Amino acid sequence: MSLEKILSQVEIAKEQAGRQKDIVNVIAVSKVQPIPRIKKVLDQGHRVFGENRVQESLDKWPKFISEYDKIELHLVGALQTNKVKEAMKLFNVIHSIDREKLILKISNESQKIGFCPDLFIQVNTGNENQKAGVKIDEVDYILELAKVKHSLPIVGLMCLPPIHDSPLNHFKILYEIAKKHELPRVSMGMSNDFVDAIKLGATDVRIGSAIFGQRG
Ligand SMILES: *Cc1c(COP(=O)(O)O)cnc(C)c1O
Repeated sequence: MSLEKILSQVEIAKEQAGRQKDIVNVIAVSKVQPIPRIKKVLDQGHRVFGENRVQESLDKWPKFISEYDKIELHLVGALQTNKVKEAMKLFNVIHSIDREKLILKISNESQKIGFCPDLFIQVNTGNENQKAGVKIDEVDYILELAKVKHSLPIVGLMCLPPIHDSPLNHFKILYEIAKKHELPRVSMGMSNDFVDAIKLGATDVRIGSAIFGQRG
């Protein structure tokens, strides 16, 4: 597919959902993609990108950021506490906040540097044991800690549904939890299911292979 096709599918999904006026951020997830493919999407005017590894992003993005205006970079993958400092300087948005230790580290660092990226709490909507993300029954506590106690800029919730489940239920659950907590943004939907995610309220869709082609 291509960026242009994806953007038009996003518009169609918004119309079908009666959400024409809503902003839906299309995050082009460029992890592992060859540099020329990323350049092509930048040259088409797209500016919102996602990566899942801090080190890979540090190797790739400073150069693009010096060459192109107004790039907005999202970290969509797991964040280790020893990478927090570098991640906070490079990324405008972090989608994977999922534990107390990470919140404390980010809070500490933001006091030192005087700013903080926008943050999403990642929710493990499938309650899967090995999976990253806060369990559903821990969301209240984590939000209280991050938003109220540490005044961090929590803008919404993110989920990565279990691979073998239909994602629809997970999208509905995530949307409902965000609504209950009056969080404005919901990060859900990838190449295969972003249309459904938009119909169920996504404000941020994370699309990789459908924009760039299969990852090598
Ligand atoms: C890779 C990745 C995506 C994009 O996946 P595609 O199926 O290529 O669209 C979205 N979200 C996260 C967290 C990812 O790691």
